[in-house]
Amino acid sequence: MNVDVTLPDGSVKTFDHAVSGFDIAKSIGSRLAKDAICLEIDNVFYDLSAIFESDISVRIVTNSDPDALHILRHSSAHILAQAVLNLYPSAEYGVGPSIENGFYYDFLFKEPLKESDLIEIENEMIKITKNAQEFTKSEISKKDAKKLFKNQSFKIELIESAETDEGVSEDVVTMYSNDKFSDLCKGPHIPNTTYLKHFKLTKLGGAYWRGDEDNPQLQRIYGTSWFTKKDLDVYLTQQEEAEKRDHRKLGNELNLFTTSNELGSGNFLWKPKGAILRDLIETYSKNAHINNNYDLVNTPHIGKSILWETSGHLNHYKENMFPPIVHEENDETYYLKPMNCPFHILIYKSDLHSYKELPLRYFEFGSVYRYEKTGVLHGLLRLRGFTQDDAHIFCTNDQINNEVKTLLNFSVKLLNSFGLVDIEADLSTKPKKYIGSDEDWEVATSSLKNSLTELDIPFATANGEGAFYGPKIDLHAKDAIGRRWQLSTIQIDFAQPDNFNIEYVNSDNQKVRPVMIHRALLGSVERFTGVLIEHYAGHMPGWLSPVQIDILTIGEVSDYLNEIKEILSDYRINIDDRNLRLGEKLHNSQKNKVPIQVIVGEKDISASTLGINIHNQDNLKDVALTEAVKLIKAELKVPEFSING
Ligand SMILES: [Zn+2]
Ligand SMILES: [Zn+2]
Repeated sequence: MNVDVTLPDGSVKTFDHAVSGFDIAKSIGSRLAKDAICLEIDNVFYDLSAIFESDISVRIVTNSDPDALHILRHSSAHILAQAVLNLYPSAEYGVGPSIENGFYYDFLFKEPLKESDLIEIENEMIKITKNAQEFTKSEISKKDAKKLFKNQSFKIELIESAETDEGVSEDVVTMYSNDKFSDLCKGPHIPNTTYLKHFKLTKLGGAYWRGDEDNPQLQRIYGTSWFTKKDLDVYLTQQEEAEKRDHRKLGNELNLFTTSNELGSGNFLWKPKGAILRDLIETYSKNAHINNNYDLVNTPHIGKSILWETSGHLNHYKENMFPPIVHEENDETYYLKPMNCPFHILIYKSDLHSYKELPLRYFEFGSVYRYEKTGVLHGLLRLRGFTQDDAHIFCTNDQINNEVKTLLNFSVKLLNSFGLVDIEADLSTKPKKYIGSDEDWEVATSSLKNSLTELDIPFATANGEGAFYGPKIDLHAKDAIGRRWQLSTIQIDFAQPDNFNIEYVNSDNQKVRPVMIHRALLGSVERFTGVLIEHYAGHMPGWLSPVQIDILTIGEVSDYLNEIKEILSDYRINIDDRNLRLGEKLHNSQKNKVPIQVIVGEKDISASTLGINIHNQDNLKDVALTEAVKLIKAELKVPEFSING
């Protein structure tokens, strides 16, 4: 027997026996054999122990490869479940996938677990990883699997419903075992348990079985795992920092927004200070749009069911929509809008358009409503009601290229203005099922790609990940502690113009279809505000601070104070003339993260001076009033928006 193994560099190794991943890695070098985690063949991952008897082209996935982290983390989830079962033999286990930065496993315990129990479970996991327990794969019949998992109702359910993601097909069950622990699983895994060295259980949460609120509530144990101690430490430090920056905590401390049981989950109430912040963000964005050839439009929050039938939302998106509002007497059904597009299309349709008018760009802050599951709601970042900085561009096929480039540049410049400067993109291309002609897709996709290249925006291509109706670009920004936030989306759409039968008159006087581009640049105002709060850890830049200057008085200074107030009347100022110690006033102002404190004492009156503390700068005393105004102006300057340079 000869097996030819082709490596990514094109070289071929020939073995005179059936070959495993270990054999291949070893044949290349001992270092690689040590670092190897699994194999990739035709976009499918295999265990290193898998045996191949015919020719293959392989890539060896090592521990420095991002794909390897998923495998480590999923294996960590197995070891977590194993540890839990060792300690709590009556616990039932559900599913345990790898997630971004870590893994989790869902359990049903006889007695609910407490956060403090995690240490013991972590110690049990450490024990398991001290000895090399191999992960071995086996295939058994459904009948045998049911016998094996007879006390595990969730596993029985997975076997019966043939969950392919969990390694169960119609007739055979794939299983991975190490020591006495087994789990339904399609793999692959790290070779043995000693590969897991750097991990931590991070928190305890709750989740419904299969994400369905009618199912039993389970306890979810979260953990994180990495290939090096350094990576783990960096991540844990980042998490600590992230907790301090949590926008929900800061939003409460800074009095920005609130929520209430009477309101329902996934919606927020903006308090006066939060409403100022929100308005500043919206106004800035709105002006940028107006100055860049967008037309403002305004649309209502509900529309008749026929509209959502035409747009396809009732066919493709209904599970994300709120239930209908039915007016029985008039036999009418309405839906809250999950998207603004159909309304903008109706506006487009209300007039006849010539090619000379295109591109047409309709912009609005459109509030939309999506019935997200309770479990995925997260502060301002994931809501049921939110406001998109939404625009729809109607253009000709020939205009796509230029339009996309202008748009991308506009988007990056807008994010930059808010202090988000490290921008990367994902380009999602044509999926297997799609509508529209190949040529249209080609033109649109290369427009997106060329624009990214020309503007020097680093991007990754997600081949085949686009929506069926057109390719798209997602922009994400890196925040102050290195987290990436997906913000802007630019989506080309070949479907909606057809659904609504919209047209323009071309230069040959014929009616033809325009192309539509959906785009939201901040994403949603709520989410964007949440991201900014976390990016700045609540210390908003001066121009975005709800209160920009706290004027703190010492003694009797009222006439001079009035003079200062007059001079600073363009700014959002707050006066603290309470009869308190200065230290207390300063502490209070800094706690509220006000960027500038102006201190006015009796001795400042005759000299026309004041004290000034600017966030992140040295505190200054006896500064001439005119000089202080200059410093304040510089600190509170609104960034100029320009798409050039
Ligand atoms: Zn598994
Ligand atoms: Zn849209």
